[in-house]
Order: sequence, then structure tokens, then C-alpha cells
Amino acid sequence: MFNKAVRKIKEQVMDFLFPPFCVACNKQGDWWCEDCRSSIQNLSGSICPKCLRVIDAGRLGRVTCDDCHGLLPFDRVWSFGYYHDPKLRAAITALKFQGTTALHRDLRSFLNDKLPSDLPGGAVFIPMPLSEKRLKERGFNQAELIANEIEAAQSTSRMAHSGASDVRRVAYHVSNATLFRSGHREAQSSMSHDLDTRQENVKNCFQVVGNVPKNIILVDDVITTGATAAEAAKALLSAGAEKVSVLTLAIGA
Ligand SMILES: [Zn+2]
Ligand SMILES: [Zn+2]
Repeated sequence: MFNKAVRKIKEQVMDFLFPPFCVACNKQGDWWCEDCRSSIQNLSGSICPKCLRVIDAGRLGRVTCDDCHGLLPFDRVWSFGYYHDPKLRAAITALKFQGTTALHRDLRSFLNDKLPSDLPGGAVFIPMPLSEKRLKERGFNQAELIANEIEAAQSTSRMAHSGASDVRRVAYHVSNATLFRSGHREAQSSMSHDLDTRQENVKNCFQVVGNVPKNIILVDDVITTGATAAEAAKALLSAGAEKVSVLTLAIGA
């Protein structure tokens, strides 16, 4: 509680001294302004968890696409928008490369508005881990930041929609102590978009430690081919998880 209050005061002082400019439109006032957040295009349907195709809106409710040949090991996949959407991309870039932790308030509002209503109860959010080397370079894991904001947004929206009494019972939590990434490989984003090449690059790079939750939602900023998340899911499934889903801010190249 004390830390939260200190952080809030610090933010207010920083905002006063250095007024924020929107990372997407450069307007003064917020790190990621309401206009930009609300103009982000929703996906035209749901995402097939086996091949990552967006199934058109007319077929909403279907989990996999017709005659799907995809082999991805996910139970469900959710994203909040497309990576080619410049206003979403700007926020993701800011999160990932500038370490804009100040963005968290606006990110939480965005997540609060957009959280999928069909997230399975009792699932544990696991942020996609970075290798130790990359974590050292960057100083933080953007997936962890997103997972923490989703957890916070989830509790706030539950609190708003139901009595506060059952918040604890349904609360989701984030586990940073289950999945680890060893070895330093080439960044997937700098490689070709070929699934096989990317799968080879991340092979056996995840380790699972301790008790594995049954129902897991992997959290990341972007899902492209799904190769990295699939490798993580395989490690979790073979360590005892029953279902592994994925939730990302964006889907696409
Ligand atoms: Zn803006
Ligand atoms: Zn499919």
C-alpha cells in the first residue's frame, strides 16, 4: 500500500515536471491518450489456437477454424488488436524499448476496457520469460509488466462488476517462478517469419520449476508465428499443465 502511494506521488510529481506526450499521437497530457486507445481496431473475430488465423466475425464462438491443419499446442489465444495498428504498435514499442513504466496507468485502462469476458476462471498468468542476458540488457521484462497490469485490471473490473467479497475467490494471479528461459538465442523478431526456422531457434530453451498450475495463460506483447509461446507451452504441458492459453496485446507481423 505504502509503495503504491509513493509511486502515485512520484508519478504526479514527474507528470508535473515533465508533462507526458502520447506515444502514438504526441498530444500532451497522457502517455497513451484516450483517443488513441479507443481508436484501436478490434480483431474481426476470434483467433484459432492451432494456426493463429483470425476467424471472421460471422463465425464467432468457434474455437478452431474449419479443416485446421495447425499444430500449435494452445487451448485458446486472445489478442487485443493487430500489430500493424500504428496506435497499438506505438504503445508496444514504448513498453518494450523505452521501458516506459509510466505507461502503466493508461495501459491498465486499455486492458480494463478490452479484457476478454471468456478468460477461464482460476487460470494463472505466466509472463513469457526473457533470457537472463536480455533481461540484464533491458532491465525489465515487458511481458511481466503486461501480466501485472492484466492482473490488476482483472481485479478492478471484477470489483466493479461484482461485490468486493468474491474478488479474492476469482482473482487471477501472476507467477514469475514457474517458467524460465535459458541460453541466449537470436531475437525471433529479427528472423524470418517461417515457423520451422523460429521453432528450431527456441527449441528446448524453457525450463519449468516447481508446481505447475493446471490452467495457464501465457502473457506476451505480441504473437506472430507462435513458435516461442508453443515451445513454452510444450514445456509446461509436459511438466503437468492441463491447458495452456496465450494472451497478447497484439497479433501479427
Ligand atoms: Zn494519442
Ligand atoms: Zn486454424
